Amino acid sequence: MAEVSVKCPTCGMELKAPNEEELGKTFKAHTHEVHSMEMSEEEATQKVKMMRSGM
Ligand SMILES: [Zn+2]
Repeated sequence: MAEVSVKCPTCGMELKAPNEEELGKTFKAHTHEVHSMEMSEEEATQKVKMMRSGM
């Protein structure tokens, strides 16, 4: 199965998911749980896409 990943811009932790949509959810959960940041799922997915295109 193909896998996508991004590094958290705040702590550098690598987050992985089967696709970009899931990765958005993973990123949202990570920033909420670890960094107490609030963002919508749409915003999280946008950031994931931006980070991935920047790599
Ligand atoms: Zn982090």
